[in-house]
Amino acid sequence: MTTCRTIRYRLHPHTQEKAIRLHGLSEACRVTWNHFVGKLRDDCRFYGQCNPRFFNTGKLFVIWRKHYAIWLQDYSMAIVRLSLKPIETGYKKFYEGKGGLPKFKGQYDHVPSFPLGSGLFKLTGKSLHIQRIGQVGLVGNNPYPDSKPVSGTVKYEAGHWYAYIVHEVKVTASPAPIKEVGIDRNVGQVTLSDGTRYDMPKQDRLEARKRQYQRMMSRRRAGSRKQGIRPSNRYLKAKQLHARTQQKIVQARTNWCHHVSKEIAGKYNVVYMEDLNTAGMTASAKGTAKQPGKNVKAKAGLNRSILSSAWGKLEQCLSYKSNVIKVPAPYTSQKCNECGHTEKDNRKTQADFACVSCGYSGNADHNAALNILAFGNGAAARGGGETTRPVKREMDAGVPH
Ligand SMILES: [Zn+2]
Repeated sequence: MTTCRTIRYRLHPHTQEKAIRLHGLSEACRVTWNHFVGKLRDDCRFYGQCNPRFFNTGKLFVIWRKHYAIWLQDYSMAIVRLSLKPIETGYKKFYEGKGGLPKFKGQYDHVPSFPLGSGLFKLTGKSLHIQRIGQVGLVGNNPYPDSKPVSGTVKYEAGHWYAYIVHEVKVTASPAPIKEVGIDRNVGQVTLSDGTRYDMPKQDRLEARKRQYQRMMSRRRAGSRKQGIRPSNRYLKAKQLHARTQQKIVQARTNWCHHVSKEIAGKYNVVYMEDLNTAGMTASAKGTAKQPGKNVKAKAGLNRSILSSAWGKLEQCLSYKSNVIKVPAPYTSQKCNECGHTEKDNRKTQADFACVSCGYSGNADHNAALNILAFGNGAAARGGGETTRPVKREMDAGVPH
């Protein structure tokens, strides 16, 4: 059985000429994209219909490149043509009512990128060969030595070039004795049912720096596409600093998720997790003009810390290393794991759990993780109070002030 794994490599163009070629290729893809998105919109407006199929746009692109957009002949035809493929998927989604029409890509507000189809690139240990560009230096680790690179994307993120290469990996499922664990996800940490606790790295300094750059951006000329004002160079500089800081935060968080998930998957092969409704939990408390909400600022802070806790990322990392089963687990934070008594008073403080019925006491997160494990392996019948209401998070859960 084979699955796909995406590996990110850092690219080093080494010479300025190659760096310019990479920028040129992504610009060619952007201009081509805008040309065809505009053309399809015009077709719809004048003829009442358009053909967004890649078969059609790809064919038109070849003619356009041959006779009109001569400068595109400097770049690989197949790569630029391939960049039109998402238009078809975008239109398909639009007709299914799942999204808007494909948008134009602005010069200053898009991530420069181009796709790599099979046969258009060659990956060796130290370099990536891109059609019509040549060898580009590459740094990165492929943990799957027997894998086969099939496709990918090259992106220019926060001032650096990266290649996201999809590898086809062979997986061999070995039958092993079932070892189960329950995981309670919290703001900034996760707790296992065996009592292990993993804390996320604190990123206060980077967050503060990010806010500083945000203020910097707000002081500078952001530009406006409607009024035809381009952003100032000082603004673009601040924007890149901001992006680079954000990238650092995300990288540290992703790294943590991979480390923790690897450790968990090494010990357990079945993982139970709370089925969290993150979108519902992070809804704004703002309310309406007639009925303004309460504690709007505190809720916004909680939302931010929930979203930055990377619950989804950890689940994603675990899902391919182990077997993740999501269980609906209401009142996990209030229910006693020993006797099943569910009451708000069980939680004396945020950290401690003390059952008012049987006297069991312990760490609140550990208790919640044990509840999730119990829900997972079907031993939930012991306790009562099972409803499908979403889990309520306490407002004082690590809200930054
Ligand atoms: Zn109890």
